[in-house]
Order: sequence, then C-alpha cells, then structure tokens
Amino acid sequence: MKYFYSRKQLLKNSSIMQIIIFGAPGVGKGTQAKIISLKYGIPHISTGDILREAVAKKTELGLLAKEAIDCGDLVSDDLMGGLLKESFENIDSKKGFILDGFPRTIAQAEILIVVFENLGIKKPHFIILTTKANILVERLTSRRLCTKCNTISNLSDIFDENRCPSCGTENTLIKRKDDQKDVILNRLNVYRETTKPIIEHCKASIDMIFIDATANIDVVQKEISIALNN
Ligand code: AMP
Repeated sequence: MKYFYSRKQLLKNSSIMQIIIFGAPGVGKGTQAKIISLKYGIPHISTGDILREAVAKKTELGLLAKEAIDCGDLVSDDLMGGLLKESFENIDSKKGFILDGFPRTIAQAEILIVVFENLGIKKPHFIILTTKANILVERLTSRRLCTKCNTISNLSDIFDENRCPSCGTENTLIKRKDDQKDVILNRLNVYRETTKPIIEHCKASIDMIFIDATANIDVVQKEISIALNN
C-alpha cells in the first residue's frame, strides 16, 4: 500500500482528527502515526523523536534525557510536561494532530487533560494498540532506524541491509541503542508498571478505541481508519 495523498483526498479526510496513539513499545505506534499524519495532513508529535533529536543535537534537554532513554527508563514528568506544552504551542491543534509517546505516567495523563482543557480539545480519539509480549520483543529486536528519513523498518522488510527500504539511502540503518535485549525488557516492564495503568485511571473520562495490532501494517491501518470512521 502507498501512503501518498492528493490535496483532494486530504480534504475528503478532513473531519478534525485529534488523536492520541497509545500502547507498549514495539506495538507500532510510530509507524501507524506517521501514516495517519500523512493521510489526514496533521502534525505527528512523537515525544520519542523529539527527545532523540535533542540527544543528537546535544541540547540541554538532550543531555538531561540521554541516560534515561539509553537504559529504557522514563524521562521526568517535569521535563516531559514542558516538552508537551511547547509542542502544542507550535501547532494549530484545532486542525488536528496525532500525539505518540505521551502520556506515559498517570501524572502526564493529568498534565495532558489540563493542556487539552486549555486548548478546548474536548473529545480526542484515544487509540490503544495491543499485541502479545513475545511479538513486542520480536519486533523490537528486529527493527532498524534510518538516520536519514527516521523510518523504522523490520529486518524482514529489508532486502539490502545497507539500504533503507523507505528512502533508499545507503548506510543509514542503525539499531537503536534502546532496542538491545536488556533495555527492551526494561522498557516493557516500565510500560506494564507505569504506563499501562493510565488506561484504568482514565477509562471513565475518555472513550478508548482498542485495536489488535498483531497483523501487518496495512491491516492495522485499515482497522484504525474504520475506527476513526474515515
Ligand atoms: P519512544 O520512541 O516513544 O519509544 O521513546 C523512546 C524513549 O524516550 C522512551 O523509552 C523514554 O526513555 C523516552 N520518552 C519518550 N516519551 C516519553 C514520555 N512521554 N515520558 C517519559 N519518557 C519518554
């Protein structure tokens, strides 16, 4: 499936898309969020991407966040709350957005509720992707990041290991430091203990859409489109 959309198609898809995409590391949030961002012409706010860029540029935020990212722990709620507010100041949220990687703690969920209240965002779509733990481990250990176009690919889709299957650039595929086995296990543990409880905490106040993300990218994308009524 190709994910390029004409202006006409974007207009057709134009009911306001204010989306939070949630789920365990490796479930496919980033991949699906990028497709949705293109499909609806809305900004993709990925807290993980913002942090990785800050680390690469050695900004103050990057220096503060690096250690937590490298060992699969969470960056502090204070820093992340500031980052979130700044991200929303830089977009017109009334025209839609997809938020990926936030919230990851109950405190962050509370910050998000306040930010949304202040921005008049009343009924965001809260999409929760799910799959089994063994599939998450398998996906995380076999994925590669292109340092040029930022696309994550799975080894099974990479025909030439020196070339990014998305942008075609040579020698840009790397394994993320936090995709090493011991770090992966810590990230999954952090998800189970600290992030997943957000679902229970917020379920009375927000409509949640659960999507089984075990199937391939196209099938999951279709399920999301159906759930969003688009
Ligand atoms: P991701 O690309 O979303 O898997 O994020 C990579 C790493 O960035 C995580 O393992 C955390 O160390 C950090 N991170 C991203 N988003 C958050 C957040 N909302 N709160 C705390 N840490 C975060």
